[in-house]
Amino acid sequence: MSTEPRTITLPTSDFGDVTVDEPAWCDGHPDHRPDYMREDIHHSGPDVSLTWRGHHITDACLVQSPFTKTDVPELSSRTPGVSVAIIARTLNPAQLYDLAAALDTYADQLRDLADKLDTLLAGGDQ
Ligand SMILES: [Zn+2]
Repeated sequence: MSTEPRTITLPTSDFGDVTVDEPAWCDGHPDHRPDYMREDIHHSGPDVSLTWRGHHITDACLVQSPFTKTDVPELSSRTPGVSVAIIARTLNPAQLYDLAAALDTYADQLRDLADKLDTLLAGGDQ
């Protein structure tokens, strides 16, 4: 395996061909169009999806916008983050751990509801 940094060259409407380092986690740029501006170049990793019984609920993936002009960490940043579709935000590691903890708590609440429903349907406490 090569230790040379990967690069990719993409056509842009404002800077012509732009060569940028390509992170190992990036899935490539199959949707990039020549009319995109340099600031639109966006690295994106493979989706981690949540599905239930065939229904797509949400997904998350590593992202980075190396030429963004806004550099708002939760929306578009030169610093890599994890984009979480269900909240339409990009999170840093601490925020992502916090979201995961909230989802753990929610899963516990769903199990509690299942327990209550099971008791109700069995003729237990109303
Ligand atoms: Zn990329």
